[in-house]
Amino acid sequence: MLSQAYKRRQRAPDTAWATLELLFKGFEANKTAVLSMNWDTVFEQGLARAQNIRNFDYGCNASARRFSDGKLKGRVEDAEVLHILKPHGSVNWLYCDACRETFWVSPSQTEQVAQTLFRKRDWDIVLKGSKVTHPKILSPSCPHCGSDSLGTRFATFSYRKALDFPMHASSWQTGEAYLKTTGNWVFIGYSMPAADFEFKHLLKRVQITEEVRPHITVITGGSDADATVQRFRKFFGNVAGQRFEYTNGLDAAAMAHLEEIGVLSSNSL
Ligand SMILES: [Zn+2]
Repeated sequence: MLSQAYKRRQRAPDTAWATLELLFKGFEANKTAVLSMNWDTVFEQGLARAQNIRNFDYGCNASARRFSDGKLKGRVEDAEVLHILKPHGSVNWLYCDACRETFWVSPSQTEQVAQTLFRKRDWDIVLKGSKVTHPKILSPSCPHCGSDSLGTRFATFSYRKALDFPMHASSWQTGEAYLKTTGNWVFIGYSMPAADFEFKHLLKRVQITEEVRPHITVITGGSDADATVQRFRKFFGNVAGQRFEYTNGLDAAAMAHLEEIGVLSSNSL
């Protein structure tokens, strides 16, 4: 459903889409890392489309694979890489319950991940009453240990998130290492919900223990924009000259600021 909505917008781009494309085109992948709380692959697909970057370091020891004839095979990785953390999991990952290895495939092969996860009984429920026939069901055989144990783990919207799995734990650790060495923390479209208390605890801990405090940029929008800005001020403190707030989404001012702090390459706008 997500990929259909995404393709529809790509065919009929509006201003928001055009701005997002500018962000992907100018994004300095060798200087900036991304942390996405979502499971989708919008950022990966954007960088692949705009800059031909197709290698992703998820910071959780996930190894690159590709589906070939319905089986997971090894994959040669390109030199250019986007560092992107997905502490809640990602739709293009598969996790082995037996050996605890995590594998990732190109976002364009996400449907084959679904074909691996869904068994016949799942498709029967999903497609009940419809004339659509289910796609081919792929073997959940692990490319590392060979057992039929491939599945997935998502941390869902709740206070009690299932974060006890190795790829989630290592994503958090890598996130902490990145945050400690980063001068600018940029939040785009993140309202800092109360349920993310573990993430907020990490942010606060790193913010107050590092000698050099990060500068905070908040890019938000919609009717809650002012409330979101207030929440960030309350959480991080409102330090003059170190807070940058944009309540109109990725508008020209926000994009110019991203260029100034080196998230976007200069003259990319
Ligand atoms: Zn395995």
